[in-house]
Amino acid sequence: AASCQSSGALPVLEALTTGCDASDHAGCCVKQVGCMGLCSAGPLVAIAAKDAPLDQAQIYRDVAATDAPEILTSAKTGTPMERLHCPTEMPFFARQQRIVLENSGIVDPNSFKGYVALGGYHAMVHALTEMTPAEVIAEVTTSGLRGRGGGGYPTGLKWSTVAKMPATQKYVICNADEGDPGAFMDRAILESDPHRVLEGMAMAAYAIGANKGFVYIRAEYPLAVERLKTAIRKAKRAGFIGHHICETEFNFDIEIRLGAGAFVCGEETALMASIEGGRGQPRPRPPYPAESGLWGHPTLINNVETYANIAPIVREGGDWFAGIGTERSKGTKVFALAGAICNTGLIEVPMGTPLRDIIEAIGGGIPGGKAFKAVQTGGPSGGCIPEAHLDIPVDYDSLKTLGTIMGSGGMIVMDETSSMVEVARFFMEFCMSESCGKCIPCRAGTAQMHGLLDRIVKGEAGRQDLALLEELCEVVQATSLCGLGQTAPNPVLSTLRYFRAEYEQRLLEQA
Ligand code: SF4
Repeated sequence: AASCQSSGALPVLEALTTGCDASDHAGCCVKQVGCMGLCSAGPLVAIAAKDAPLDQAQIYRDVAATDAPEILTSAKTGTPMERLHCPTEMPFFARQQRIVLENSGIVDPNSFKGYVALGGYHAMVHALTEMTPAEVIAEVTTSGLRGRGGGGYPTGLKWSTVAKMPATQKYVICNADEGDPGAFMDRAILESDPHRVLEGMAMAAYAIGANKGFVYIRAEYPLAVERLKTAIRKAKRAGFIGHHICETEFNFDIEIRLGAGAFVCGEETALMASIEGGRGQPRPRPPYPAESGLWGHPTLINNVETYANIAPIVREGGDWFAGIGTERSKGTKVFALAGAICNTGLIEVPMGTPLRDIIEAIGGGIPGGKAFKAVQTGGPSGGCIPEAHLDIPVDYDSLKTLGTIMGSGGMIVMDETSSMVEVARFFMEFCMSESCGKCIPCRAGTAQMHGLLDRIVKGEAGRQDLALLEELCEVVQATSLCGLGQTAPNPVLSTLRYFRAEYEQRLLEQA
């Protein structure tokens, strides 16, 4: 995946491929795979029997091209190399439950046959040939799956609403416009297992009666776009996208639409405006996309991770999925761990896993012997959680009680050296520059709040400025048109709630 490539995976791939082609390593073959998750130790190399799961592989970490001959020799002799050994028993791997990521790091993302060999498209063939659309929706409803983009709306309910609309033209959209700072779940899924997302979209289209789908993805994700293009081309060639799929009456085509990286285009009405060729700005709802979406037609929008959950739900059954997670948050969730944490990378855990397990056990704690200070969840719409609440289970509802949200899955960990006022200023600056400017509360309010935070950080603000900041938070939250403005004050409010002393301290520092 892109993160491993940025740490030098391609020269390693080349060295291993060249070495393997030499006759003395006959019997080995080198396969390029997507993300194994442990970014901080990349590039990773796994030695395994064909298509074996990651926990049965011998994994090597921090691999350089010069290590290739030794790795090939150890693969041939079956004697593991101690020097680069990365134990799969470590909590980072052992404490995860991989459903969405079950093929990531195992399948070659460019290989259609590789995906099919791992059971890919079997769920779609089953759905199309042995289930009615209503039965597919019923299975998704039974699973209890909720939208993984952050909203947490019940997926089955959304699907049945669009299915009931009496239109002849309907659309399916995959929202891959991941924009939260520190979040890279969707990018890694698309780079690692693109067919899984296409399979989920096709089943969604079948269930709601759509014949056309769009993947809206930011152009800043070139590797994901390339892999997606390859996957769509190969799925079309194999007859899994196109006309009369699986010799049924079901027709479905998918197109990619590139976004220019505006954060607001992750908001579904702005996203649709962008696909239609207009300026990516939100519009008031209702009407909701389910009633009047793309070009006025009923439209289903889900994000990458939501679609990636569909194949296992259809394959294993909704009851199986509903048995994982908590009462109101079913299944697993993919998180991106970033910031001051030893094991940065991508993980998947059952809903309800305590935050402390994620940070300390799976994430390996804070590097350099420093103390934990806070974890920011939910990106610019979320908030910061202090040490005292680390035992909270991570799901849609629990995090809301702490004044934050699970969001799409980004987690930024901060150590004792972080200033929480500066963190709030960072997120406000982000919202200010990403505001589309359509409504005044957000356009002017984020700029005013950023100005106040900047003065507080510099020790130039008085007590009345802090009161004004709090008042502005309320106004912007209550009066902005879309989610960007409505949630922009959240990082300020949550840092004020748990770290108010840091704000006060800056005020006291002034003359
Ligand atoms: Fe645009 Fe902000 Fe208003 Fe949303 S809240 S419509 S991003 S100005």
